Amino acid sequence: MGFTDGRRITGMYTAEVARTDRITPHMVRVTFRGDDLTRLPRRGYDQWFRLFLPRGDGDTDFTAVPEGFGLGGYLKYLTAKSGTRPPFRNYTVRAHRPELGELDVDFVAHGDTGIAGPWAQRAQPGERVAFIDQGRGFDPIEDAEEVLLVGDESALPAVAGILRDLPRETAGLAIIEIPDPADRQDVDEPAGVEVRWLARADPHDRPGLLALDAVRAWIPERPTTLHAYLAGEQQLVAESRRHLVAAGVPKARISFTGYWRVGRAG
Ligand SMILES: Cc1cc2nc3c(=O)[nH]c(=O)nc-3n(C[C@H](O)[C@H](O)[C@H](O)COP(=O)(O)OP(=O)(O)OC[C@H]3O[C@@H](n4cnc5c(N)ncnc54)[C@H](O)[C@@H]3O)c2cc1C
Repeated sequence: MGFTDGRRITGMYTAEVARTDRITPHMVRVTFRGDDLTRLPRRGYDQWFRLFLPRGDGDTDFTAVPEGFGLGGYLKYLTAKSGTRPPFRNYTVRAHRPELGELDVDFVAHGDTGIAGPWAQRAQPGERVAFIDQGRGFDPIEDAEEVLLVGDESALPAVAGILRDLPRETAGLAIIEIPDPADRQDVDEPAGVEVRWLARADPHDRPGLLALDAVRAWIPERPTTLHAYLAGEQQLVAESRRHLVAAGVPKARISFTGYWRVGRAG
């Protein structure tokens, strides 16, 4: 399974906000609950989904949300009557407790611009949302001798999920850039994986540059048996991939996706 396989997955789920918690200065954890969450497949690692939010006028009619986000589903969404389409963004499962019908999602609180980040900061218990399951982007490569996981704060939930679910004998390095030292979270990494937290000098500095410097300073000893995972701001991902390919890492061994782009919505 990889990032593009989500197009083949179907499954629409609705839930409501149970509670919110500002867990660190720049991260809001929203806990959703609902019967649908008891049947959401638990895929582990960096499982992600399309999250459909209330419209600007507060409307939570999700009939325009398709069962899946392949070409047909996306067309159904796009051709729904104007004004009936709920906005959506992409998010990661931080924790799923199917037995309780609960799901935690960590939203970067990146200011007042946009839809999902600002929504999470003011979300109220009882507000309704919808999800489309998209599977996961990280698929362990069986012969990998080492992993390199790289992300900014938007990919902290993904990297934390991968660290939690990796076989305990895995070796490697995780580089996680955060806005502030206090944004560090407890993660459950295998003993052989070093987790390197890089906090920006100023939370407002451009995200991703510190992590990119760290990637560029890292030369894989055995590039052909590495599994690299890159997620976060587009430039961090693209430039990190370029560095690894130049260092001899086969492209097929690099799982990557640009999560967001400085100055670009959606
Ligand atoms: C597979 C996948 C999984 C993801 N998982 C998560 C997750 O678990 N948690 C999470 O917080 N994000 C996650 N993201 C990233 C998230 O989808 C984007 O950050 C998204 O743009 C946020 O939407 P928004 O409505 O808040 O802002 P938008 O409307 O998209 O953008 C508005 C403005 O905010 C800026 N912006 C957007 N995101 C950030 C950010 N993180 N930091 C600083 N500025 C930003 C944009 O450049 C733009 O100028 C994931 C993305 C993908 C593709």
